[in-house]
Order: sequence, then structure tokens, then C-alpha cells
Amino acid sequence: MTPTERIVLATRNADKIREMRKLFSSLPVTEVVGVEEIADLAEVIEDGTTLRENALKKARTVAEALGELCLADDTGLEVDALGGAPGIYAARYAGEEATYADNCAKLLRELEGVGVSRRGARFRTVMAAVDPRGEGWECTVDGVLEGRILVEPKGNRGFGYDPLFWTADLDRSLAEISLEEKNRISHRARAARAMREKLREYLVGA
Ligand code: IMP
Repeated sequence: MTPTERIVLATRNADKIREMRKLFSSLPVTEVVGVEEIADLAEVIEDGTTLRENALKKARTVAEALGELCLADDTGLEVDALGGAPGIYAARYAGEEATYADNCAKLLRELEGVGVSRRGARFRTVMAAVDPRGEGWECTVDGVLEGRILVEPKGNRGFGYDPLFWTADLDRSLAEISLEEKNRISHRARAARAMREKLREYLVGA
């Protein structure tokens, strides 16, 4: 089959785009592009109450504006000792303009004095794909990665909360592993693999 489609990623986050480009590299599409590379659209306000609502809103808004297949993800970090916080508010945990470092510092402060056995946490990603053409097509999938919040940052790779997130599978933080290793085990990778199969069926009609 000759690819005729491209996939537009409805995100401005260069870190996510880098990961997703690799994750979707085997799909029969011409290219995987970030929305900012091809259009100047207003930022989508993430005002949903669930990851699924936010992912669908981002994908639908951009897909409808461009008239083509778009994909978005929304990721949350659920920390058991904090009753599931920061959850869907992971990006804004330390305030509207918070940097990754601000958010990590706040998380460490909130967990001060909490013992190792109570630092369980998980990343959860919901990925949504929307094709607005014809009768329209929508699909959502999710992916989860279980781990623990470290007492201090480790590693300088990855992004966001990666330096604080330890996984038993690798006995390292997500910031101590390569992009290839992260893309084998991560929440986003798990969602992307599920999405890759849905997209393959949709695009190839299998
Ligand atoms: P978003 O709302 O999906 O853009 O993600 C919320 C926040 O979660 C981001 O700003 C990051 O701080 C964090 N985040 C998302 N994905 C990852 C990841 O793979 N590793 C570490 N942090 C992440």
C-alpha cells in the first residue's frame, strides 16, 4: 500500500513529539508532524475532568480545524500517598506557568517524610485519534506505567517527572534510560502500541 496519509500530532510539546515520531515510525503514513510545524492555531484549553476528555478535545479541535487525521495524548501522574494527585493536573501542579523543575520540586515537598513503601505512583496516558472526514472516526486507548517516586531526582534524560519516577522493571529512573528504552516500557509507548494497531486497521482497512 502506498501511504497517502500523514498524522498530525495535536501537541506543542517537543518532547512528546520526539517520542511519538519514533513510536509511529512503522505505520503506513507519509509523515508524523507536530501541529505547530504546519499551522498556527490557538492553544486548546485543557478543561476536561478526565484524561480522555482532554485528549479527545485536543484531537477533535485540531482535526476539525485542519480537516485531517489528528492524534493527541493526555498524561497524568497519580501518586498514591497524595490521593492520586497531581493526576490530570500534572502540567500545572506548581502553578499555571510551572516548569518541569517547579513541578518536581513541589512533588518532592509534598512527599517529604513519606517512606519508600508509600511512594507508589503511576503514569497514565490516554491517546485519542480523530479523523473528521466523511462520517468521522474517533478512537481512544490508554497505557499505564507503575513505579515509585524517588526521594531525589536521578538522571538527566527524558522530561517532566522522569527524574523522579523509578520503575522496578529497570531499577532506574525514567531519566536514566535511553529514549529507545523508555519507548519500550512507558505509559505513552503502551498507549501508542495500542493506537498503532487501531490506526493500522483504520488506514489499511484490515
Ligand atoms: P500533558 O497534560 O499530557 O501535556 O502532560 C502533563 C504533564 O505530565 C507534563 O507537563 C509533564 O510534566 C508530565 N509528563 C507527561 N508525560 C510524561 C513523561 O513521559 N514523563 C514524565 N513526565 C511526563
